[in-house]
Amino acid sequence: MGRGQVQDNSEFMIRQFTSVGQPAVPKGDDVMILCPNPQHDDSNPSFGIDKSGKMGYCFACGWKQSYDQVAEKLGLQKLFGEGGKIDEVKALQSAIAAFEASQTSKDKKLIVPRMLKKWQGGFKKFSPEILHALDTQAWADYRKDGTLVRRIFWPFWQKNQLLGGTGRIIPEDEPKRRKTESPETFKRRLKDFYRDNPKYRNLSGNKAKRVLFPYDSYEDLLPVVLLVEGPTSCIRMLDVGIPAMAILGIRNWSSTKKTLLLGKGCKKVVVAFDGDPAGRSARDDIVADLDELFDVHVLDLPDGQDPYDLSDKWIKWLRKKVYRMGAEFPFDYRDAA
Ligand SMILES: [Zn+2]
Repeated sequence: MGRGQVQDNSEFMIRQFTSVGQPAVPKGDDVMILCPNPQHDDSNPSFGIDKSGKMGYCFACGWKQSYDQVAEKLGLQKLFGEGGKIDEVKALQSAIAAFEASQTSKDKKLIVPRMLKKWQGGFKKFSPEILHALDTQAWADYRKDGTLVRRIFWPFWQKNQLLGGTGRIIPEDEPKRRKTESPETFKRRLKDFYRDNPKYRNLSGNKAKRVLFPYDSYEDLLPVVLLVEGPTSCIRMLDVGIPAMAILGIRNWSSTKKTLLLGKGCKKVVVAFDGDPAGRSARDDIVADLDELFDVHVLDLPDGQDPYDLSDKWIKWLRKKVYRMGAEFPFDYRDAA
């Protein structure tokens, strides 16, 4: 999983290894080196690092390390992070600049200050690993009074193109109910706040109608997919090992998304929209639309819940169910999440 473009860093890695006398040879899409596991006395290079450098695996002992972890031990130049070969924030900033420059003035709905930083750590129930894999950034824009509101930002990489992105206000920067405040007053204040500061703010010219998030994070075919409404539900599912994609709001369903699902080799679709009247009615329409081409299943969520809210018990049940559906296919998509 990654930022969409799987960059080929093989040459860089081979140069780094050979500079310290460590044999490194390309084999298929991997770079093979002697296994860095101190407990494995490797005489024949058995450790393969994928061309992006993000995943390394020993075919003999099962040891797992990224290129950067191995580089740290050997004192080599790293790929990612400060001083690394690839500055992901700069790469995304220039992709966003190019994306926004390509929009016509008619497309421009929102202009958002470009203050990106790599997201560090977790968010809500999410693990740092899943956020890293989704190329998550820290973003910020200004309130009317000139103070900052901070957001967590996910870019929409699709077929190696940036098609937009969305930033959600972090809970710390949302209004909290004051002790002296009635629930009604707080509700009104919250409504005013979101009118000036949308909960989700998109890149200007966002192509939400064409996006299934996070499409490029699945490098392999995806025979079964859970279709959800929003990014946070989707990320929660990915984090617990359930293959999921978000349609980015019920108003953004389109035939393009049907074609995208076919393109990923989808055979079965589980529609798991929010447990509210809008979600249920949209679900019925989309199920009818998908029915001819896919084996469609429905997960009816309890009132007021979305997939993000599912309890551990539900998640366990759902994962089992989805894995069983996928077991009919010669592919283990648990690796995809
Ligand atoms: Zn090994």
